[in-house]
Amino acid sequence: MAEVVIIGSGFSGLCMGIKLKQAGCEDFVILEKADDLGGTWRDNTYPGCACDIPSYLYSFSFEQNPRWTRMFAPWNEILDYLRHCADKYGIADKIRYGAEVTEAVFDEATGRWTVTVNGGETIETQALVTGVGSLHQPNVPDLPGLDTFAGTAFHSALWDHSQDLRGRNVAVIGTGASAIQFVPEIAPQVAQLDVYQRTAPWVTPKPDRAIAGWERKLYQRFPVGQRVIRDAVYWGLEGRGAGFAGNPKLMKGLELQAKRHLHKQVTDPELRAKLTPDYQIGCKRILISNDYYPALARPNVSVVSTPITRITPTGVVTADGTDRACDTLILGTGFTVSANLTRMPVLGKDGVDLADHWKHNGVGAHLGITVAGYPNLFLLVGPNTLLGHSSMVFMIEAQVRYVMQALHLLRRRGASYVEVREEVQERFVDAIQGDLNNTVWQSGCTSWYLDPSGRNSTIWPDWTMKYWHQTRKLDPTDFAVVH
Ligand code: NAP
Repeated sequence: MAEVVIIGSGFSGLCMGIKLKQAGCEDFVILEKADDLGGTWRDNTYPGCACDIPSYLYSFSFEQNPRWTRMFAPWNEILDYLRHCADKYGIADKIRYGAEVTEAVFDEATGRWTVTVNGGETIETQALVTGVGSLHQPNVPDLPGLDTFAGTAFHSALWDHSQDLRGRNVAVIGTGASAIQFVPEIAPQVAQLDVYQRTAPWVTPKPDRAIAGWERKLYQRFPVGQRVIRDAVYWGLEGRGAGFAGNPKLMKGLELQAKRHLHKQVTDPELRAKLTPDYQIGCKRILISNDYYPALARPNVSVVSTPITRITPTGVVTADGTDRACDTLILGTGFTVSANLTRMPVLGKDGVDLADHWKHNGVGAHLGITVAGYPNLFLLVGPNTLLGHSSMVFMIEAQVRYVMQALHLLRRRGASYVEVREEVQERFVDAIQGDLNNTVWQSGCTSWYLDPSGRNSTIWPDWTMKYWHQTRKLDPTDFAVVH
């Protein structure tokens, strides 16, 4: 028995653990299926992997890190930071590694969840908090013949570091946020690199730079200086959110900047044409890079924009019949988003799996955190809380604060469970879906933000400040408090 079970030890699971500990709660466990903490920053280790939100903001507000060596820290520094947080706040020993949650079942009579670990052991808990991330399960494209490929093949999130790519003929499928980071790293090493692009991404300059030793010393001595920069970054990005969520015409400035960037970095008109996106900027995630376009302009790199028809044991065949040989295939094809929250059966009050519930009713949760029919279950980075423009860590902290209030309500009232009222959830979800109507994400492109029906149950379509405000104070009347 544990008062709270947290699933996952990425940014959200750790934040939840830290806040519980700070509130004096010791009776919790963090279940982590892998053998290390860090979530996405443990899994993604591909060359060039780094945050694309400035690190001063992509970190906990209560634990500023004066040690960042770049404005956009590489993955290993972020992982070190998370380890540091787990140690400093005394929650490292609360994490159980190799503990994959395979099922969670709610019992209305006791108001408790029974969590099954690795298909065997069970743990009873009053509250279940999921911090399982949303971009986690690698998306393996459904390309005919992919399983017949005889060379080396791996996904960017499962990078095979034992492979020496020097002198190889490499094919990369995908040109998203991951690919634009590793393509410039591997391009100078390989003999030939074919980059298969289905949709040209919008790419803007990356305002990155090294943070000098004296600056780091300064922030160590005067943390307020770093906080001022953090605030400036926050408001800068928040301003960009206005364009995404409100009038897409505001995005024109960004589009001009991206076009100028392409024009400056790519002089070959044929390549430039291939790399010019044909959809509204912001509809898919805007990418930032200073070295992606120059890498594509290298003589040993080809951008192939003709659709792939099949993979053979020795190469990639495109719709024009061309068969390009390769010995290494790297999938930069992203993640299956919808499968993540519900990758294990989560059976609520009526014994209905959350995945089935969402299949029938549409994916949604009040504030992205609580679902009617699933009492005492709290989702971190849940539906409609992902961002296209700012730091998820900000959203996570807001969510954790809200969950802490729900747990406090449970305790204060001596209740067995709290359950969000259906009408409250509906009102929230309807408002969100209404707000999404006029946003850039619904402007006609296909993206992982949308499910196959075109519904957007991933993105928070407003200022993050508004989310902060809505989650700041839990309204007890939004919940049925059951004894
Ligand atoms: P992604 O943005 O979803 O990109 C996947 C790429 O693969 C796209 O270019 C997509 O083309 C292509 N693709 C997928 N299936 C394909 C198929 N069957 N045939 C051909 N091409 C196919 O994935 P990602 O680059 O891994 O990034 C995912 C998300 O993770 C990002 O949006 C971002 O939120 C996050 N991320 C963040 C960072 C960071 O902070 N540093 C780094 C990496 C990732 P289409 O565009 O045509 O679908």
